[in-house]
Amino acid sequence: MKNAEAIKSISLDIHEHPELGSQERRSSKLLADKLESAGFDVERGFMGMDTSFLARYGNGSKKVAVLAEYDALPIGHACGHNIIGAWAMGVGLSLVNELGDATLYVVGTPAEEGLGKYAASKVLIAPQLLKMGVSAVFAVHPGGEWMVGANLLGVSRYSYVFKGRDAHAAASPEKGINALDAAVDFYIALRMMHGLLDRKHQFVLSAIIKDGGTAPNVIPGRAEVWADIRADEESYLDDLIGKVNDRARAAAAINGCGIDIAQITPKISPFKRNEALDDVYYAAAKKYLGDSLISVSEAYSRIPEASSDVGNVSQVVPTSHLTIKIGPKGIPAHSLEFLRAAGSQEAMEALITAVAIGHDAVLNFVRGQLRTGALSVFRKPICGKTWYSMVQDDNLEKVQIAVDRWREKDGANRCLNRRIRGVWRGLQKLLSRDWSKRGRNGGC
Ligand SMILES: [Zn+2]
Repeated sequence: MKNAEAIKSISLDIHEHPELGSQERRSSKLLADKLESAGFDVERGFMGMDTSFLARYGNGSKKVAVLAEYDALPIGHACGHNIIGAWAMGVGLSLVNELGDATLYVVGTPAEEGLGKYAASKVLIAPQLLKMGVSAVFAVHPGGEWMVGANLLGVSRYSYVFKGRDAHAAASPEKGINALDAAVDFYIALRMMHGLLDRKHQFVLSAIIKDGGTAPNVIPGRAEVWADIRADEESYLDDLIGKVNDRARAAAAINGCGIDIAQITPKISPFKRNEALDDVYYAAAKKYLGDSLISVSEAYSRIPEASSDVGNVSQVVPTSHLTIKIGPKGIPAHSLEFLRAAGSQEAMEALITAVAIGHDAVLNFVRGQLRTGALSVFRKPICGKTWYSMVQDDNLEKVQIAVDRWREKDGANRCLNRRIRGVWRGLQKLLSRDWSKRGRNGGC
């Protein structure tokens, strides 16, 4: 491959200079500069985030995006995002002069690990990709096996502040209202929910007591619990959030406490499978990997372990995901072992193979090798004339967004125009939300 050495050296450079989420200035610049010098139009600070970028090549009507990540953990690139960034850039470089009548976006998406003010930036970027008319997204993540398909849970983090009244624990306990009792009741109720949940679904409820008082001789007037609520389906996640919040309110009530409930990270969606796009990715990967590639059905039957904001993209634009094998099967992410693997020679060879796969998958997609109706999961006719997709924002409001295929000039169809106006209002509201003002330090 023409740019193999440059792709590897940029990946290793990012690995050697890890930057935490929302601070990835050097890493994003490395990728953006290289794409710009190869002929891409690069918008730095895409969507107002100074470590994001949008690099565009070509101007055709069929629009495809590949996603770059480049944020590290406090111990370094122990999630291997140096490989994701270099991969997306590499796919971009490989398609220069080859793309034909299509548009390719390489999208620099900050802070996947949930750190800093751009935490889970794809939550904001996802509806923007839809607005831009992108109809397919290819993504990767390193791991211990080659596979197409991602079984990722949705997750939302909540804070529950129980409000009671301080009092001396020995002299006048009757004057106190014990907020810690409420927090503990809530914690136990949350743990006991596991036995009552729908076993058709995958879910995880995990919680900590963030604040349980100041001293044992004081009845705690304040206590705080943080909970991560995870589930495999968007609607089931919403259902679970409602059930958990009900238990928190009940625990406050039986202890005579007040309660403040706040969502403290953007809602990460579960990964939505698109079979047709998976077929495209799988066929491209099979050519290079043969028997070392796991079947798509096996990939989706794995027990989900993690969450990623690529889930939010997959909910609104057809998305397919490739896991790149950089180490032994079962290698744990976020470990020192993974950190070493992400900078290894084996990983660099795998990266180049994955770039070739991405190159072929994008070309096969833009050349139309996709079975008819494949994208219809996401798009339904409005008034028999156009198509739309659904975005669900974190407040559970459904926002409908119109994409391509509609023409405002077609004023005869007032029903359609009315629908589109509503859609745009919803979209603007979603995009104008200032997440940076919230305490965001969620993790995936
Ligand atoms: Zn990761």
